[in-house]
Amino acid sequence: MTLKPPPLRNDCFALPAGVNWTPVDAALALLRDRLHAVTEVEQVALGAALGRVLAEDVVAQRSNPPLPNSAVDGYGFAGGLPEGEHVIPLAQGRAAAGLAFEGVVPAGEAIRILTGASLPKGVDTVILEEDVTTDGQSIACRGPLRQGANARKAGEDVAAGEVILAAGRRLTPADLALISATGGAELPVRKPLRVGVLSTGDELVEAGQTARPGQIFDANRPMLLGLVERMGHHALDLGRVIDDRATLRGRLDEASQKVDVIVTSGGASAGDEDHMSALLREAGAMQEWRIAIKPGRPLALGVWSGVPVFGLPGNPVAALVCTLIFARPAMEQLAGAGWRAPQGFLVPAGFEKRKKPGRREYLRARVRDGRVEVFKSEGSGRISGLSWAEGLVELGDGAAEIAPGDPVMFYPYASFGF
Ligand code: AMP
Ligand code: MG
Repeated sequence: MTLKPPPLRNDCFALPAGVNWTPVDAALALLRDRLHAVTEVEQVALGAALGRVLAEDVVAQRSNPPLPNSAVDGYGFAGGLPEGEHVIPLAQGRAAAGLAFEGVVPAGEAIRILTGASLPKGVDTVILEEDVTTDGQSIACRGPLRQGANARKAGEDVAAGEVILAAGRRLTPADLALISATGGAELPVRKPLRVGVLSTGDELVEAGQTARPGQIFDANRPMLLGLVERMGHHALDLGRVIDDRATLRGRLDEASQKVDVIVTSGGASAGDEDHMSALLREAGAMQEWRIAIKPGRPLALGVWSGVPVFGLPGNPVAALVCTLIFARPAMEQLAGAGWRAPQGFLVPAGFEKRKKPGRREYLRARVRDGRVEVFKSEGSGRISGLSWAEGLVELGDGAAEIAPGDPVMFYPYASFGF
């Protein structure tokens, strides 16, 4: 149970040879096939399981409801009622939730029953209290009423022994209700994926410090740390390093001892100061991912001492899009949650756009009045657009000419766990 899966192979990110720009779907298929869960399994109490990933299927230990019970406050008896007026004598006692009526209700009599109460012997049908008048001795009501009305059957929701949640499920508050209702108290879950986030670049300054002209504040790290947390992982701040190979190497060595994945931004291309890609290449475990996607420069995917590294572009817009499109499903896979494509929605466009074939495009977007609007600028340095947007519009790999009203695929940020 506490066995740790083997580390990833150095060549796990290899892309097909001879392809210049890899289509997004091919890149995703590769991540899906090559990555596997790397997190350990532990047993936790139900109350500590929210947001955790199930390591095994969960089976209902008990049916829901466990016994037939009443869906309403009213009066219970056996059989339905034909059309017409009825007067039914009341049996002594009552049945309430948690306080069962132990006796048998004689045929032809009714008993007071409250919502959630187990049906006493001799009762299979309940009439709503609003539909009767009573003097305390009898009830008077009008038929017809079908046999079984307002009664819940044992196991009509879940039968004991049924698989209620599958391994890989990230537990929601509703799941906790389901598990608890069916008798579960302890669950095998995966330890959270530990994701280290690192920024690289000589130009970067920490928030709160003084920035000289030409320096910029580190925008990616707070964003990426936040994204990782929102996606349900454990984010570790690996700080910021200058564009120096030895420093970066030291930081990666240190990080690879304590995290399951490293996400870096900046220095991922093939320029002089792109030390991230240079180091990974040196280690013999680097793949330059030239993906046909906009925004997004090459990604540097690699393995450092057995730990996968996602080298994102430094540009914050590209960093965000590449995180949502590539790093998110990859991290889910590593976390044991399996592969989950984001849920998109076709929404009429509130914009016009002409697009060339050859790469997939993601636009910062949001929905207003049933139409999807896109940010005024596609400039990849526009951080304000990321904040303005509430999701992304996806334009397919081919050419497209979009007119207002045409359906386009919109992915709310929430679909990425954002
Ligand atoms: P790079 O990928 O290192 O060539 O960086 C591309 C662009 O993104 C440059 O304009 C960088 O200054 C910018 N950039 C890199 N890292 C960050 C960061 N952490 N926050 C904001 N901008 C960044
Ligand atoms: Mg840089």
